[in-house]
Amino acid sequence: MSTKVGIPRALLFHEYAPLWTTFFEELGAQVIISENTNKTILNEGVQSTVDDACLPVKLFHGHVLNLKDKVDYIFIPRIMSLFKGEHICPKFCGLPEMIKNSIKDLPKIISTEIDFIKSKNNLNETIYEIGKYFSNDFNDISRAYDIAYLKFEKYKKNTLNNIPNTNNKKIMLMGHSYNLYDTYVNMNAINKISSNQIDVLTPQMIDDIHINEYSKKYKGKLFWTFARKLIGTTLYLIENKNVDGIIYVSSFGCGIDSIIVNTIERYIKRKSNIPFMLLTLDEHTGEGGLNTRIEAFIDMIKWRDKDEGNISAHG
Ligand code: SF4
Repeated sequence: MSTKVGIPRALLFHEYAPLWTTFFEELGAQVIISENTNKTILNEGVQSTVDDACLPVKLFHGHVLNLKDKVDYIFIPRIMSLFKGEHICPKFCGLPEMIKNSIKDLPKIISTEIDFIKSKNNLNETIYEIGKYFSNDFNDISRAYDIAYLKFEKYKKNTLNNIPNTNNKKIMLMGHSYNLYDTYVNMNAINKISSNQIDVLTPQMIDDIHINEYSKKYKGKLFWTFARKLIGTTLYLIENKNVDGIIYVSSFGCGIDSIIVNTIERYIKRKSNIPFMLLTLDEHTGEGGLNTRIEAFIDMIKWRDKDEGNISAHG
């Protein structure tokens, strides 16, 4: 029987799923992904986490609990840095310890450090560290990674090609992938918007080439990967005027967002008249309130159109 490796359907799973799942499968493991977020996962995650953690970290705990009795290993890498010269949110660095301290009777945790702050020179070492749980043959591990990376590239390309080509109004749903693509947490915000004949874009649909190019227009160095991506996306949208509104979906207690959102909002107000709205979610957010805010935002966009932009974009 093949070894079972669990991957929590949370945090960066929403970006790297094809890479991680293919890599383990190519090494002969059976990959088990936690269920879609549901009430039990949310409640158990909240109960097992310290109060002041952000919602995505609480959810991550819930997804680990969902997996813990079903697998031999759980993949929880210690992510320090994904790109040269950039940091990631500190919550990712301490995640394996946090999980081990909060949840009892866990299977073995694959908590290999991923740290590319200086360069990706140690990529092979990192891959080997993870792959050796399933194979001792470096060539085998390297082959598995190459196949996984190709699949990941293809997935990213498909996401880019997903931009709807219609005359509908367009709203950019901005934020961390795990807030945008977890439909339970954001109460299906994408569907709520698109059911109004509005096309929804996410930062994952913007080519990294544009994001990197426009992030350089930011005055100052962007040390945070999330900041580079989201500020780069905003500056690209402002200059190319290709959306009719921007909704930022954030989580209560996110330190990174408290800085990014402020910067993004200032840029939008100063350099464009694109309407902007911040939606902050936590475990108590009610669906009624969320619906009202989204509907009001969409109405405002439609009225502005009729009224030739005489309605203020920012209230
Ligand atoms: S970036 Fe924000 S939401 Fe994401 S893990 Fe860090 S604190 Fe939580």
